[in-house]
Amino acid sequence: MKILKKDVSRRQFLKEVTTGLFDLTIIPSVSRDSQSKLKDRPFIYRTLGKTGLKLPIVSMGVMNANNPNLVSAALDAGIILLDTAWYYQNGRNEEMIGEVIKDRPRNSYVISTKIFEPRDRITDRFPANAKSDTFVAKFETSLRRLGLDYVDLLSIHNIYKPEDVLFEPYLNAMLKLKKEGKTRFIGLSTHQNEPAIIREARVSKKYDVILTAYNFRQAHRKEIEGEMELAVKEGMGFVGMKAIAGSVYNIGRKVHVNAKAALKWALQNENIHTNIAGFTTFDQMETALSVMENLKLTPEEEADLEGSKHYSSLYCQQCEVCRSQCHAGLDIPTLMRSYMYAYGYKNLQAAKEALNQGQISRIACIDCDSCNVRCAMGFDVRERALSLSKIQDVPESFLV
Ligand code: SF4
Ligand code: SF4
Repeated sequence: MKILKKDVSRRQFLKEVTTGLFDLTIIPSVSRDSQSKLKDRPFIYRTLGKTGLKLPIVSMGVMNANNPNLVSAALDAGIILLDTAWYYQNGRNEEMIGEVIKDRPRNSYVISTKIFEPRDRITDRFPANAKSDTFVAKFETSLRRLGLDYVDLLSIHNIYKPEDVLFEPYLNAMLKLKKEGKTRFIGLSTHQNEPAIIREARVSKKYDVILTAYNFRQAHRKEIEGEMELAVKEGMGFVGMKAIAGSVYNIGRKVHVNAKAALKWALQNENIHTNIAGFTTFDQMETALSVMENLKLTPEEEADLEGSKHYSSLYCQQCEVCRSQCHAGLDIPTLMRSYMYAYGYKNLQAAKEALNQGQISRIACIDCDSCNVRCAMGFDVRERALSLSKIQDVPESFLV
């Protein structure tokens, strides 16, 4: 059979990016030794603001995990909060969690899920004619997949603009669902414009919890910290995300973020009540849990984080400096987020989903010889965008 050039590049691409999540043929379970080791682990708890939920400071962001034994082991080890979303792994993520929790007491875990709704391509806002029905229908699907009558936390997934914090169709839908007992608390998640979005949410007094990106690489971390401080004083709960800032500094995967140091760094801020660590292996879970032994950074860990500034990163801080620079109007922040999912997290499905969310059906860099985009973090935007173009050829069925 003749092998087309396109097929070769697709195969090479899949080989490059899939070493962890999608090539698992044997799903390991946790060993007895590991179980007892995990049970002996000291835990630090914080209260998630006015929800009153007392949680270990390390929670599980299930997004990239596809191993039910790992999720089970996390709960057995003492983790309480599992964070998922309607679109993760095309719904399989919620289904997997549903399987894991079905025989466990309902008060032994806390489930957080998020509903993503599309934005207007030009304004990046929710479309003015959006209705609550789609949001509610997606949430009902999430409940079915999880096998639950209610979740503990329901959030609007990834608000881009502070003006959308009070977007009535979705906010009112969540308030109604809360009243009906289908969610105990409501929240939002934010990966960009975090300070302004946190401020809007605080002033509105409508939200219980915010899931925010927060890590040692963010240039605007001081602004985030200032807004968190104010919001926590008014009872807001905070769940930290993206603590390890993309996991690796380059796609050759030669230089890894010191995950333990990065997680410690985020959790030293007591306004982060818990952090959803995105571990996908038992070793990574042990590393995440081990931060609770001592949150103080060792001199080596401090040096690792400090030294990181000499490297570029896979983490796009979504600062939007590049937003208006591309003459083809590409949504570069979304492209760079997708790139991080593909090459940092090894999660092709999430990478493709990000492209779909940004309605990026074609990567214009293919026909563009000179790139005028200057990224605030020094990324070679064209090179990264081109390497992503291959994802669009990968059939959905291959990714789920
Ligand atoms: S690509 Fe660079 S400039 Fe654009 S949002 Fe990301 S970090 Fe900022
Ligand atoms: S190379 Fe890509 S990102 Fe750069 S200007 Fe051209 S289309 Fe825009």
